Amino acid sequence: MPQGIAKANLPEKTCPVCQRPFAWRKKWARDWDNVVYCSERCRRAAKSG
Ligand SMILES: [Zn+2]
Repeated sequence: MPQGIAKANLPEKTCPVCQRPFAWRKKWARDWDNVVYCSERCRRAAKSG
Protein backbone atom coordinates (compact mmCIF):
# COMPACT_ATOMS: atom_id res chain seq x y z
CA MET A 1 0.00 0.00 0.00
CA PRO A 2 1.26 3.49 -0.73
CA GLN A 3 2.05 5.64 2.26
CA GLY A 4 0.21 8.88 1.82
CA ILE A 5 -0.73 11.49 4.36
CA ALA A 6 -3.74 10.17 6.19
CA LYS A 7 -6.58 12.36 7.28
CA ALA A 8 -5.71 11.33 10.80
CA ASN A 9 -2.57 13.40 10.48
CA LEU A 10 -4.49 16.64 10.39
CA PRO A 11 -3.58 18.91 13.29
CA GLU A 12 -5.91 19.13 16.23
CA LYS A 13 -6.62 21.59 19.00
CA THR A 14 -8.77 21.42 22.09
CA CYS A 15 -11.54 23.93 22.45
CA PRO A 16 -11.22 25.75 25.81
CA VAL A 17 -14.98 26.17 26.05
CA CYS A 18 -16.37 22.71 25.41
CA GLN A 19 -13.08 20.85 26.07
CA ARG A 20 -13.49 18.84 22.90
CA PRO A 21 -10.74 18.23 20.39
CA PHE A 22 -11.39 19.55 16.94
CA ALA A 23 -9.47 18.91 13.77
CA TRP A 24 -8.12 21.21 11.13
CA ARG A 25 -10.63 22.22 8.53
CA LYS A 26 -10.03 23.50 5.06
CA LYS A 27 -11.83 26.74 5.80
CA TRP A 28 -9.20 27.41 8.46
CA ALA A 29 -6.29 26.79 6.13
CA ARG A 30 -5.21 30.42 6.15
CA ASP A 31 -6.07 31.09 9.75
CA TRP A 32 -5.26 27.95 11.71
CA ASP A 33 -2.88 29.71 14.08
CA ASN A 34 -5.66 32.04 15.12
CA VAL A 35 -8.29 29.39 15.56
CA VAL A 36 -8.96 28.79 19.24
CA TYR A 37 -12.55 27.61 19.48
CA CYS A 38 -14.22 24.75 17.70
CA SER A 39 -17.14 26.82 16.56
CA GLU A 40 -18.63 30.28 16.40
CA ARG A 41 -20.90 29.25 19.24
CA CYS A 42 -17.99 28.50 21.55
CA ARG A 43 -16.19 31.65 20.51
CA ARG A 44 -19.17 33.74 21.53
CA ALA A 45 -19.65 31.77 24.73
CA ALA A 46 -16.08 32.52 25.75
CA LYS A 47 -16.47 36.23 25.18
CA SER A 48 -19.82 36.52 26.90
CA GLY A 49 -18.47 34.89 30.05
ZN1 LIG B 1 -16.08 24.25 21.54
